[in-house]
Amino acid sequence: MKDYTFPFDTCEIPYSKTSIIAQPYSFTVNLLSSCIILYALFNTNDIYIKTFFGLLFLFELIHTISHFIHIPGNIQNNIIHFIAYLVNFSYFAIFIHLTQTMPSIGILIIYLLIIILDIILLYKQKFLGYFITQLSLIILINLYYFNYITKHVSCNYIYLFFILTVIVILLFINEKENCKKMLDKKELPYHIIVETMGVPLFILFIIILKQLDK
Ligand SMILES: [Zn+2]
Repeated sequence: MKDYTFPFDTCEIPYSKTSIIAQPYSFTVNLLSSCIILYALFNTNDIYIKTFFGLLFLFELIHTISHFIHIPGNIQNNIIHFIAYLVNFSYFAIFIHLTQTMPSIGILIIYLLIIILDIILLYKQKFLGYFITQLSLIILINLYYFNYITKHVSCNYIYLFFILTVIVILLFINEKENCKKMLDKKELPYHIIVETMGVPLFILFIIILKQLDK
């Protein structure tokens, strides 16, 4: 299995003759996502929820810029991964703050083990691996606070969140494995399939957190 280096291996042929933007289709979808998150940032009150959306916006903005210009090396990838940590920690912080209780030792140990695995995968440059570990941290928090969340939000949103996360991971595996084959058949910006599925995930964050917002 060939390694995947973000943003160079994302499945949209970069720097076509007609565009100054490296990957204009991926750039446009992510710009839309960034705007959606910015809307949430200005339409929530709780400072912890605002912080989360602020960091998620920063994450998505740098992701967007990475499709605008490709900087050689791992700098773009590493910055985005670092911000993904901040996004994750701030998501955990929302629930510690809202429930006003310290999480159990058990959940903290599982959380820490996933982070250790994530660091190992990052060190080994296994993009798919650390993409999944980051999403697992969010899933873990949603599971741990499932009863609390579903007191305020319909559990269908949480189930939909889980289903979409799995779909995004499967689509990403498809992109990584079949990009070249798909491009050989027809030159299309296939990376936007994953990005477009990310949009309902961002919207679900907004739906869930807006109902928890005080
Ligand atoms: Zn992307």
